[in-house]
Amino acid sequence: MADLMEKVVSLAKRRGYVFPGSEIYGGLNGTWDFGPAGVLLKENIKSEWVSHLSARGDIVFLDSSVLYNSRVWEASGHVESFVDELVECEICHRRFRSDMAPEKDSDHTHKFLPPRTFNTMFKTDVGPVEDKGDRVYLRPETAQGIFINFGNVLSSTRVRVPFGIAQIGKGFRNEITTGNFLFRVREFEMLELEFFVKPGEDKKWHEFWQKERLQWFTDLGIKPENIKLVELPKEDIAHYSRGTAEIWYHWPFIDWGELEGVANRGDYDLKQHSKYSGRDLSYTEPDTGDKYFPYVIEPSVGVGRAALAFLLDAYAEEGGRVILKLHPKLAPYKVAVFPLVANKPDLVTKAKEIYSELRLKLRLSAVFDDRGNIGKRYYSQDEIGTPWCITVDYQTLEDGTVTVRDRDTASQERINVSQLDTYFTQKLT
Ligand code: ATP
Repeated sequence: MADLMEKVVSLAKRRGYVFPGSEIYGGLNGTWDFGPAGVLLKENIKSEWVSHLSARGDIVFLDSSVLYNSRVWEASGHVESFVDELVECEICHRRFRSDMAPEKDSDHTHKFLPPRTFNTMFKTDVGPVEDKGDRVYLRPETAQGIFINFGNVLSSTRVRVPFGIAQIGKGFRNEITTGNFLFRVREFEMLELEFFVKPGEDKKWHEFWQKERLQWFTDLGIKPENIKLVELPKEDIAHYSRGTAEIWYHWPFIDWGELEGVANRGDYDLKQHSKYSGRDLSYTEPDTGDKYFPYVIEPSVGVGRAALAFLLDAYAEEGGRVILKLHPKLAPYKVAVFPLVANKPDLVTKAKEIYSELRLKLRLSAVFDDRGNIGKRYYSQDEIGTPWCITVDYQTLEDGTVTVRDRDTASQERINVSQLDTYFTQKLT
């Protein structure tokens, strides 16, 4: 199984999904750069999330800054409690998160000093003077940006409880130990939804969002046997949480583990920010005049961690070929276009014409390839995860048909060029 991870990491680099961060300078721990295919995969994940949420009609979007007034983190409790317990080995001086510390290294058994707490928020200074008054933190989650804008969203839109505010943005965590490729990094994009509900209706909505989010993953191709919902025991959840469930994925490196969190944050955050800011962040029911602090249900997932689950789940080896069976909606390139041979100008011209039409008229993410033989081109598109390959051959010049080959079955059908738009529109909706 660990072997699968190695294969995916190497494919990701070879095919332009993910490169090690700062590679030519020896790297920087816990950072990865998304290449041409990786950017498209990430964009597709994000746009599937956005379109799924916005189709509901009760969710609006926000894009808050990464840096907030430090009082935000005092109010939220992060200055005090966004901490991990760290242990240091007396012999090798390596540091580990205490719940992840291995008993021994290759040459010695670790001898740990008493645990210390370590705040995992990155700190920086605003402006040129490095004094305490200018200290700010890089946000470790985007949620607080939503809570501090709760009043602004209420007064500038027509939303009414129950409703959600969703945000995509980078979060930064100075993790003690990073690793397992995109699973645990120090800088990552997050998809966060804060769904505000009437107290008393929170349990129902918490269950609703757990199922909804699980379904989103399976609809996008994650195999049902590799994903499940888990209710966390009380001792494992944040002090303010009224219950946290997690969507777990069957990772090859740690067995089952968190892919996405779905927390019931209660009314903790809105109350804290009301108290610290002096602004009233409660909600008044327009019909009844009832005034209360809404409870918050929060599904939260890292885009990179989700991308890793999609890549691992899609990886397959069949009959000597490697296939990345990504859901067509997530695949970076939907279609590749080939002239049967590269040295026949008629075929190349026709193929380029089709390639342009797919891009310009259908707005499909397409690639063109005329290198090597057809077999090699199929092989490389299978590895990248391109669901369909179009080949322009001599028959195309006679009757206007092309072959369309399916990535997963390797079967081919002849389609008239004039039918390609309906063919792909049907496949992709
Ligand atoms: P852990 O206990 O594993 O450190 P957490 O419970 O602190 O994780 P959350 O605060 O629930 O994580 O984060 C929400 C989501 O953000 C996670 O489900 C995961 O998808 C993603 N995430 C969190 N930390 C990281 C990280 N270091 N690297 C990549 N993704 C992350």
